[in-house]
Amino acid sequence: MSSSTQSAADPAEALGAILARIEAARKAAIAPASPITLIAVSKTFEPHHILPVLTAGQRVFGENRVQEAKSKWPELKREYPAIELHLIGPLQSNKTREAVELFDAIHSLDRPKLAHALKAELDRTGRAPTLFIQVNTGEEPQKSGVTPLQAPAFIRLCRDELRLPVKGLMCIPPEAENPALHFTLLKKIADENALPFLSMGMSADFETAIRFGATHLRVGSAIFGHRN
Ligand SMILES: *Cc1c(COP(=O)(O)O)cnc(C)c1O
Repeated sequence: MSSSTQSAADPAEALGAILARIEAARKAAIAPASPITLIAVSKTFEPHHILPVLTAGQRVFGENRVQEAKSKWPELKREYPAIELHLIGPLQSNKTREAVELFDAIHSLDRPKLAHALKAELDRTGRAPTLFIQVNTGEEPQKSGVTPLQAPAFIRLCRDELRLPVKGLMCIPPEAENPALHFTLLKKIADENALPFLSMGMSADFETAIRFGATHLRVGSAIFGHRN
């Protein structure tokens, strides 16, 4: 893995700079800015890249693959029990058990089959990871997520019928578009459905996301360096 990634010169220093920018953007926001959780996205980086960021005090991390997370995090969690892990990538229903075992939050709930699989697993284990429904705000065929139009019915199914701990929405705006339009749309759907959390904003646009009400930022390369 390390051969395919180029780590930041000093991830701990990068983390400090990002936290300062988050605080400045939060204070500058017009609406009373809600508390913001920075998720340090460590996908493709190995434990020796992650350790300096842990040492610097960061405890919330994001991964996009269940298998990769399983190979890295159980050991780190033994050393740092307060670690909070977020799954930000797609989840296959047959990986639900492993995902629920390892992750404290899942940002990619996007279809009824997965909702039912999660329901069965949460009932079986008594665990209650924070769930985000992924919305494909740009309606891109290659991206997961429910469409903005499908979102209200899917929220009702997950939260009200299945009683899943759905707390927010997540989106990944199309690369070539102004992310602000997508952040606004996600915030509108969340407000209309009384969901408090918004997982939006990555390395390139997290300050914009804060301005539009983000509560959870998913920042990878700005902390850990470039991924190939
Ligand atoms: C990789 C990834 C991120 C982090 O992206 P950066 O541009 O490196 O900050 C955020 N969200 C998701 C869903 C990702 O897969």
